[in-house]
Amino acid sequence: MFKSFLIKYAEIGVKGKNRYLFENALVDNAKRALDKIDGNFKVTKENGRIYAIAEGDYDFDEAVDALQHVFGIVGICPMVQIEDNGFDDLAEQVIKYIDETYPDKNFTFKVMARRARKNYPMDSMKINAELGGRILDAFEGVKVDVHNPDVEINVEIRNHINIYSKIILGPGGMPVGTAGKAMLLLSGGIDSPVAGWMTAKRGVVVDAVYFHAPPYTSERAKQKVVDLAKLVSKYSGPMRLYVVNFTEIQMYIYDKCPHDELTIIMRRYMMKIAEYFANREKAQGLITGESIGQVASQTMQSLAATNEVCTMPVFRPVIAFDKQEIVDISLKIGTYETSILPYEDCCTTFVAKHPVTKPNINVIKNSEKHLAEEIDRMFEDAVNTAEVIEIG
Ligand code: ATP
Ligand code: MG
Repeated sequence: MFKSFLIKYAEIGVKGKNRYLFENALVDNAKRALDKIDGNFKVTKENGRIYAIAEGDYDFDEAVDALQHVFGIVGICPMVQIEDNGFDDLAEQVIKYIDETYPDKNFTFKVMARRARKNYPMDSMKINAELGGRILDAFEGVKVDVHNPDVEINVEIRNHINIYSKIILGPGGMPVGTAGKAMLLLSGGIDSPVAGWMTAKRGVVVDAVYFHAPPYTSERAKQKVVDLAKLVSKYSGPMRLYVVNFTEIQMYIYDKCPHDELTIIMRRYMMKIAEYFANREKAQGLITGESIGQVASQTMQSLAATNEVCTMPVFRPVIAFDKQEIVDISLKIGTYETSILPYEDCCTTFVAKHPVTKPNINVIKNSEKHLAEEIDRMFEDAVNTAEVIEIG
């Protein structure tokens, strides 16, 4: 019965003069999400309201799911839109709406009329009272409760009249594309997809870089990262994924540097390469899934040592989250099942038994001097041979 949805957004409503930019991005993103499913939708903006209107048949659950992946949407209201053919017709349509929407007519309700068009012959109070009366007459089991109703029946008088009462939660956040771009270091783990998702939620476009180490890491491990990128991009929109062959650099560090510093030095090179691609993509920052103290390379000292090679800001959205809190988000956004597939990670292949937990930057820099001869060429090779995969 629902031919359309009213799309509610919150934060972007308060952006003053730039408001239209946020609304336009939300319209575009909703349109792109709905284009992926069967059916034809028109997404429009009218007087501070965004509507998705179906032209022809579509699958309700699919449409809701698509909209639940669009950041910026806080509520999805399945809506019946009618023409203004006088109050009697409106009352009839509202009664029909209730009849079809609530099989069990045993609830409390209130009518919430809004009159955006002031030439409508009744004011909102009058509409509330009149409609309330007609609904009470039509259904025996329903009662009015103006303070804490089970059902709030919204009637918006605009050019058309909108009738809705259900609000399905959206993902919240800001429309992707309204807050710049960042480069995500995406591994096959649980944390980095969540970190990417959280940043995209604030409106940031996310591209990604993955370091693999063939033949020590398999094609399956890479496919897992591609799959994770696809899952994140269901929310964040199209994503460019750089797959960097890190084997040579990793072996070289293994050869030349103290093994207990291996992870830190490797991570410093990952950050440098990620920053190289971030610059190429005109991104403003890097994103990692690091969380304080989770492993040796994520102590405050290790984070400082890793951070030291970057000139761009490094965003670490899960920095203060417990593992379980990160897992909870990954379950919610659907990345968990893929993240826990047991494929080898390029960091674990060469990991030291007793990595330093309090690296000293000067000591690390000194160790890196042993790399001087070849590392620049290897860096060049790594970025020049990177595979680019367009996701979403
Ligand atoms: P995750 O669950 O995201 O893999 P983790 O707990 O396994 O994180 P580390 O392996 O220490 O932690 O990695 C810390 C962060 O460094 C990751 O969250 C990710 O952003 C980045 N990273 C690690 N390995 C890779 C890789 N092979 N390719 C790209 N980024 C990586
Ligand atoms: Mg990892």
